[in-house]
Amino acid sequence: MVRAIVGANWGDEGKGKITDMLAKESDIIIRYQGGSNAGHTIINNYGKFALHLLPSGVFYNHTTSIIGNGVALNIPYLIKEVNDLVSKGVPKPSILVSDRAQILMPYHILFDQYEEERLGKRSFGSTKSGIAPFYSDKYAKIGFQVCELFDEESLKEKVASVCEMKNVLMEHLYHKPAIDPEELFQTLLEYREMVKPFVCDVSNYLHNAIKEGKNILLEGQLGSLKDTDHGIYPMVTSSSTLAAYGAIGAGIPPYEIKNITTVVKAYSSAVGAGAFVSEIFEDEADELRRRGGDGGEYGATTGRPRRMGWFDAVASRYGCRIQGATEAALTVLDVLGYLDELPICIGYEIDGKVTKDFPNTVELNKAKPVYTTLPGWKCEIRGIKKYEDLPENCRNYIEFIEKELETPITMVSNGPGRDDIIYR
Ligand code: GDP
Repeated sequence: MVRAIVGANWGDEGKGKITDMLAKESDIIIRYQGGSNAGHTIINNYGKFALHLLPSGVFYNHTTSIIGNGVALNIPYLIKEVNDLVSKGVPKPSILVSDRAQILMPYHILFDQYEEERLGKRSFGSTKSGIAPFYSDKYAKIGFQVCELFDEESLKEKVASVCEMKNVLMEHLYHKPAIDPEELFQTLLEYREMVKPFVCDVSNYLHNAIKEGKNILLEGQLGSLKDTDHGIYPMVTSSSTLAAYGAIGAGIPPYEIKNITTVVKAYSSAVGAGAFVSEIFEDEADELRRRGGDGGEYGATTGRPRRMGWFDAVASRYGCRIQGATEAALTVLDVLGYLDELPICIGYEIDGKVTKDFPNTVELNKAKPVYTTLPGWKCEIRGIKKYEDLPENCRNYIEFIEKELETPITMVSNGPGRDDIIYR
């Protein structure tokens, strides 16, 4: 059975925790898109970890962790992440890397930095991990698949040809030092040695795993609203964040994805620029940011303060729909216990008209939030294991959101730990 765990919002919904939890019953966990540009924070018996590239299933002995072909593979970063885990006492995970995954090159990171600098005020708020230049090159067909590392002669030629082109930009657009093709070639040979033990025909491996009835998890990065096509373009990420892309980014048939668990956050947070209709500011935002997540809402990759907002039912319902959610997990509910009242954005006012449908970016930029307010529950709900034991106002909040989402909420997360979960 293949199950996808994906985000309904702007990312940071707590997918890492849900994946880590569900990985217990899984055989294989796959990252299928994105790269090291976003982090999953996981707290378990080994400690607290921020994973960027590895899937969140790496903490179990029985699981195989896979980097699918859809991922932006930063090879030294992968090795560093594996070594970090091992140094903190986690058993050495079993890892496979698709031979078709493309390599994030050192110049992708440079171009990401230089371009954000060039844009100045108009920048995207990129994490500068090289993701946008990486995917641009992939689709321009000047990227490097892992398998290409094993054909030295062609590799050398391709490196020279790509450098010729990249160096025009380096010199004339960014006024930075040129890339040395020989040095780059040597770096790639080092990358080859690093990645060699993990390289695998992942699609074929998964074909057999599915035949054998293995339990497979696809772990999404970021959320619906950051999807290149269906998100808040252009303030999106450069790969698809949708469950559907799991089929492509892992190399399996789309109809094998039977369950799409969409993680929905009980309030809103976002990083980077772009429309954020239910955003809140100043003291109201500071307090939620400070109390949010586990130890505050600050980027797992960059440490920057996240933008905060009330729960946005319009965006979250769309987020679930575009994922094809079969069920939803509502997370970080415990954080909201301090509020007397909980505003929920139930509509967008655009040009004087109220809509419940999430619009395209041009319309979205004009949208103003329409709120309803529910009473708070004013107590700590961490530690509660049964749904019936939650305070009534808390259940009302969950059930209101469930109706708005048009998706059954099957799990409620009331703390960052593996066991802080209420099944319904
Ligand atoms: P991901 O990118 O979707 O995996 O999300 P993150 O890893 O950024 O998760 C957001 C933060 O929320 C992390 O620090 C988690 O430890 C924390 N977290 C996850 N679920 C819960 C929850 O139910 N309650 C609290 N308080 N924190 C949570």
